[in-house]
Amino acid sequence: MDGSTKSPQHEKVVILGSGPAGLSAALYAARAELNPLVIGGIEPGGQASLTDTIENYPGFPEGIGGAELGELFQKQAERFGARVLFEMASAVKLNQHPFEVTTDSGIYTTDSLIIATGASPVHLNVPGEKEFTGKGVSYCATCDGWFFKGKSVAVVGGGDSAIEEALFLTRFATSVTIIHRRDSLRAGAILQKRAKEHPAISFVWNSVVEEVLGETKVTGLRLKNTVTGEPSTFPVDGVFIFIGHTPNTGMFAGQLDMDDKGVIKVNNLLETSVPGVFAAGEAADSHFRQVITSAGMGAAAAIQATHYLENL
Ligand code: NAP
Repeated sequence: MDGSTKSPQHEKVVILGSGPAGLSAALYAARAELNPLVIGGIEPGGQASLTDTIENYPGFPEGIGGAELGELFQKQAERFGARVLFEMASAVKLNQHPFEVTTDSGIYTTDSLIIATGASPVHLNVPGEKEFTGKGVSYCATCDGWFFKGKSVAVVGGGDSAIEEALFLTRFATSVTIIHRRDSLRAGAILQKRAKEHPAISFVWNSVVEEVLGETKVTGLRLKNTVTGEPSTFPVDGVFIFIGHTPNTGMFAGQLDMDDKGVIKVNNLLETSVPGVFAAGEAADSHFRQVITSAGMGAAAAIQATHYLENL
């Protein structure tokens, strides 16, 4: 569709995002015969699809690959009439009704909108990080782990993501060092136990990365001890950074109520500050951030969007 020459395509429900929240919303909206349009971004399946194995989504007792689960979500939503486009929404207008969504290829108007745009990794913002991204700095072990076969890598962070990804990296790297700013992990007990017992994993406690070092690719890290202030250099071939996420909600700034971190405020019916606009998943939740909670929010948002359209 060429937005400059054609009139906007009108929809009953547009869903932004193709992670667990977006595709669960699509399934429920499709089963309500709303023929939803999912504008799914350029990363099908969202963050969950970058996870090697998901072990805590019910129904898969042996675990399931993140990408595979995303494909199943999509297939199930499409079976009932959802349409999924993999393109980016670049702007929305929520101060008018129908709402307007502009994508890379056109403009859509819609009676209701479900925002499920998810979150992106937080960066350390230290010298060398940006320069060496893709040359030894990574935010995705599933994507880049293979490149570090037989090498030594560091993982920054002490949460579930850091520990889970460190364990995954032991498939490739000969040594995985977890660098954490405190002396105890935030991650859940099972992951902590697995990491501490793993022969290829070691820990550097009470330390932060102050610089990523290298010439053409990463060769090491400049660290600072958070207790003594002592600097040190740590040689390493790659560094994987997992220090949390920030919601992908910049497009809605000034149009929807958000908290100071950019998380969209919703009530228990997943309604945002604009009637007819709903939000689900990590765009609206910085607390639970699980595949199952995001999927549940997506389903609830679609049920509520259905009620909204009935009453319109
Ligand atoms: P997180 O729980 O917020 O952990 C972030 C980690 O990075 C913390 O250990 C934090 O240190 C550290 N950190 C933050 N900023 C830093 C900085 N500037 N420099 C150095 N370290 C920094 O994030 P997450 O691990 O991505 O997890 C997010 C949510 O997803 C959590 O609710 C988690 O339970 C969930 N999750 C669950 C699973 C699972 O169930 N299998 C897997 C992945 C994620 P402090 O500890 O000192 O704050």
